[in-house]
Amino acid sequence: MVKDLKLEAGCRVAVVGGGPAGSFFALYLLQYVREAGLDVKVHIYQERAFSRLGPRGCKGCAGILSGTLLQNIKELGLAIPEEVIQSRITCYRLYSANGIMEVCNPQPEQDILSVYRGGGPRLYAPAAPISFDDFLLKEAQRRGATVFPQRVRRLLVYPRPTLEVGQRKEYYEAAVLAGGVNTLPVDMPDLDVRPAATLQMVQDELHARREDIQAYLGTKVQVFFIPGANAGEAGHALPLSSGLRMPAAHRHPVREGALRGPFCSYRRCAGYPFL
Ligand SMILES: Cc1cc2nc3c(=O)[nH]c(=O)nc-3n(C[C@H](O)[C@H](O)[C@H](O)COP(=O)(O)OP(=O)(O)OC[C@H]3O[C@@H](n4cnc5c(N)ncnc54)[C@H](O)[C@@H]3O)c2cc1C
Repeated sequence: MVKDLKLEAGCRVAVVGGGPAGSFFALYLLQYVREAGLDVKVHIYQERAFSRLGPRGCKGCAGILSGTLLQNIKELGLAIPEEVIQSRITCYRLYSANGIMEVCNPQPEQDILSVYRGGGPRLYAPAAPISFDDFLLKEAQRRGATVFPQRVRRLLVYPRPTLEVGQRKEYYEAAVLAGGVNTLPVDMPDLDVRPAATLQMVQDELHARREDIQAYLGTKVQVFFIPGANAGEAGHALPLSSGLRMPAAHRHPVREGALRGPFCSYRRCAGYPFL
């Protein structure tokens, strides 16, 4: 939109959405401006509290952190608190109609971690909410970003980036949209933005004893490719220290109420021999 945008001392940058994309953007920006000796204000607008337990704090993410993301964490000089880490994954075990295959971490010296992205399951609530996204957002805050727990209603680009938040307007030198795909889109009348195509997912957490998880699954994520489904549609079972996390892609809309029960949408693949 704006070519050759150059941030100068005193600039204000707005970040709409404090999920991983917004927090990482803010953390890198703060690092670069500090290296350049610039004083730039970063404001993050995050409407939802990640620390709330159950579906309100959870966004349905399976929570596996890739090697690249862990590299980013290292580059930023961050350390993920142990209580946020649910398990260390060594292999993926893939089940398809053609057989079973195991793919193991080619760099065992570099962990693949599973974490809670939101507040944690409501039914067997941990002593304190566990949330990787909350950890990242708080780090951005600790390093200088200001976080507003508010929803941005509208984003105007011309004549200058302007956010409408509640009844007020805030003016910035730059605005970054990092709102993800799970909330109502921000109204952006200046721009021709088409929402990304999405696929509905469902996720459940089943409580299980640590020793059973270790005995039956160890540190392997089980991936079930559903016969007749698209390549991206698969069910997963992720071993955690306190149970199993089970996300799955779903081609059909899921009724709101159906999301509450265990195995809500797994019925479709329940007849599959591996399950
Ligand atoms: C079932 C499932 C499993 C997944 N598994 C994995 C996995 O194992 N590993 C992995 O790396 N990724 C996984 N992902 C993907 C991962 O969740 C996303 O890539 C990641 O969350 C995207 O981050 P984001 O910051 O772009 O968006 P989000 O995480 O959606 O964050 C955007 C934030 O912006 C806020 N927001 C939106 N609009 C506004 C507004 N107008 N005003 C204020 N705040 C606003 C929202 O509240 C939200 O918190 C999975 C996703 C799903 C659905």
